[in-house]
Amino acid sequence: MTTGPAAAGLPLLEVRQLSVHHGQLRALHDVSLSVGAGEVYAMIGANGAGKTTLLRTISGLKAASSGSILLDGQDISRLRAERRVAAGVVMVPEGRRLFPSLTVAENLQVGASYARQGPWTIERVYQLFGWMRERRGQLAAQLSGGEQQSVAIGRALVANPRLLLLDELSLGLAPVVVRRIYDTLPELLASGVTVLLVEQDVSQALRVASHVHCLLEGRTTLQGAPGQLTAEGIEGAYFGLSGGPAETAGQPGQPGQPGPAGPAGPAGMRPPGLREHPHDLG
Ligand code: ATP
Repeated sequence: MTTGPAAAGLPLLEVRQLSVHHGQLRALHDVSLSVGAGEVYAMIGANGAGKTTLLRTISGLKAASSGSILLDGQDISRLRAERRVAAGVVMVPEGRRLFPSLTVAENLQVGASYARQGPWTIERVYQLFGWMRERRGQLAAQLSGGEQQSVAIGRALVANPRLLLLDELSLGLAPVVVRRIYDTLPELLASGVTVLLVEQDVSQALRVASHVHCLLEGRTTLQGAPGQLTAEGIEGAYFGLSGGPAETAGQPGQPGQPGPAGPAGPAGMRPPGLREHPHDLG
């Protein structure tokens, strides 16, 4: 059950006017977002849009230049990464980043290092991923990409996150494997976890998320519930073809139409995974 400010209607996560630099490069420009408890919130955008930078900054692995990050109304912007884990912000990094020479069980134990109290234990992770228990003694390096991704998720879960940050889960995995991994989301949500994910496959993001937020070169170009968004609007925001810097679907007075280059993007390109109409997806 949700307690604290989130129960009073405050978002679990609030990012306010966040700007982040890599040296001279400004990777995020005044990005703001709000994730409610129990939501699946998806960040989309082309390569280099700033999605990973955003997740790394929320998790404390990268320092912000300006702006703030609030968890349950508390400013966590200055906490070190391990303190944020202890507060319930846990990230599954792009590329899994398991310890290859440790076993499955040992990788899961690493995740418990800064764990909060909560429902997730190594035993429960074994229940979530049926194959994992009998292969717990196997080295992580010997697992397939999908299995490694599952261990990486399990490692994050045993820290008992309130906010789980998932960076490009589907990268390099076969669609059937991706589907199987995403199929675990309802159980995570039922256990009280809120999810902020980066997904390069736009159709996948639309399928699982309650809110989608598009970045382009570090700026917000579109956000809204999947039901409020059109394929044309997403394509415009993804490729930077729309009129305004920040469109919010469903809010009158905001620009929402693609620009003169039309809905299919440069040279007829579409964002990865986006079909003719996003709601055709099963
Ligand atoms: P991708 O899908 O390719 O991972 P992304 O949307 O996650 O893209 P980021 O990885 O956040 O984007 O990168 C945003 C910008 O910051 C890009 O221009 C990238 O080249 C730059 N960048 C990212 N990490 C670093 C770094 N460690 N040093 C310098 N520049 C970086």
